Amino acid sequence: MNGDQLIYLPLGGAGEVGMNLYVYGFGRPGKERLLVVDMGVSFPDMDGSPGVDLIMADPAWLVERADRIEGIVLTHAHEDHIGALAHLWPMLKARVIARRFTGLLAGMKLEEAGLDPKLIEVVGAWPETVTLGPFTVGVLPISHSIPESAGLVIDTPLGRVVHTGDFKLDVTPGVGEAWDEALWASVAAPGVRALVCDSTNVLVTHPGRSEADIAAALRAVIAGATGLIGATTFASNVARLKTLAEAATAAGRSVVLLGRAMRRLVEASVEAGVLTDFPRVLSPEEAVELPRQNLFLLATGSQGERRAATASLSRGKYLGLEMKEGDTFLFSSKTIPGNEKGVLRIWNNFSEMGVDVIDDRGGALHVSGHANRPDLQRMHALMRPAMVVPMHGDHRMLRAHAALANESGIASVIAVNGTMVDLSGDRPVVAEYVEPGRLYLDGTMLIGAMDGVVRDRIRLALNGHVIVTVIIDDDGEALGGAWCETMGLAQVGESKVPLVDILEEDLGQFLNRADRATLGDDDRLEENLRRVARQTAEAEIGKKPEVTVVISRLSA
Ligand SMILES: [Zn+2]
Ligand SMILES: [Zn+2]
Repeated sequence: MNGDQLIYLPLGGAGEVGMNLYVYGFGRPGKERLLVVDMGVSFPDMDGSPGVDLIMADPAWLVERADRIEGIVLTHAHEDHIGALAHLWPMLKARVIARRFTGLLAGMKLEEAGLDPKLIEVVGAWPETVTLGPFTVGVLPISHSIPESAGLVIDTPLGRVVHTGDFKLDVTPGVGEAWDEALWASVAAPGVRALVCDSTNVLVTHPGRSEADIAAALRAVIAGATGLIGATTFASNVARLKTLAEAATAAGRSVVLLGRAMRRLVEASVEAGVLTDFPRVLSPEEAVELPRQNLFLLATGSQGERRAATASLSRGKYLGLEMKEGDTFLFSSKTIPGNEKGVLRIWNNFSEMGVDVIDDRGGALHVSGHANRPDLQRMHALMRPAMVVPMHGDHRMLRAHAALANESGIASVIAVNGTMVDLSGDRPVVAEYVEPGRLYLDGTMLIGAMDGVVRDRIRLALNGHVIVTVIIDDDGEALGGAWCETMGLAQVGESKVPLVDILEEDLGQFLNRADRATLGDDDRLEENLRRVARQTAEAEIGKKPEVTVVISRLSA
């Protein structure tokens, strides 16, 4: 074993929240056998990635070393942990290991992508383990906001690493396993070299609350409302779906699930045996036959997603169901930073209908799925690791988490995506820097974030577009000037005549003056036409648009 090292390399999820992808390695430097943990996505936004469908870590580093990958282990079924598997697996073709419920949901995604869902190997909870090269890996139940979440116990010849996955310390989580302190203490007993730990809520200073704490508040709100009640939360928060559905049933209301993701999650949870005695649900067709005050709609789209059921309800009828004056709509969720605009749009749409919107109310109607600062301290104290490596957080979260560990005298490191950390010694040491990248799923294609596709799209969106067409005849003369079309630009500028006319006029004059050398050289002609078009547009409308020049040459 002399000369072997144990490394940790985040390729996604460290220095940002989302698209988690972590790598562990063991062996001689540069020859390590690799273990991949999670393969998630982030969601695009109009500012930075317009038109993009999904964002994921660029696996280029792994693809080059695909023959060294012993396996991919999934901690839980949230999109930021499994969403990229179906897109990236074909490049890696490694074994995939998950618990049953996680495997079921990841398998559905593989199937949709035309891959075999059976390639996921289901593993039972710790103390069951699976051997992946030099790694012996066990999945250790922990509470979070989706069933069957797991931390990983990763045993190597250089000792034990515990990768927490996403977690909270909830002894009454409703659905899914409760936080089992004795179980985690037993894992810590032989000694933990490194605790690689969720950082999401390190900046929240009060101890986390339990899912059970909000049930009474939700029941009171639902019991007190008249008319139709709608509610939304994350579809994957099966415990919350159950809490809400039970509160509705207690108030004499029938539950209707709206949105494919919500039905799918409830079905998968029942199939995997993690959800029992969920109240009977009505189809929208059955629901329209019932009095409105006897209904409870549970809808997808808590983050303001335009195409989800909640947004549809806020714009009018959805599957024959409609919110009206005097109805109530409940947001039992936190708005993720960046999604505020979309959520606010929905609140205002409901407001215009006369629907009362009830949001999180300072935490009364929602609890987070992540451990707060005091809970992280409790985890550090319980595991007593030689080092804490913060993951799953943006830079200030990683930094605060590293400082928190230091406060308890535990060595730590701030390792953002691409930072390879050597865990072999008594403290974490940055060994190397790998250029991290991201891929976009754009339509059906995976493209590199730096390929320029989206950059061009943003430029077109910001600046507008002019198409200039010229024809050069077989004498090398411009035939009839230039033709222009514009997109995304004011039609009439300072001169009070159509912009297209001014552009064609100025470009025509340029063509008349142009010498044979310019007219004979495509590149030179194109560059000049672009310059003239941009100058004219700037003078007319104060913008320099993107210009596409099309030159056709007639030859005898
Ligand atoms: Zn996560
Ligand atoms: Zn999660």
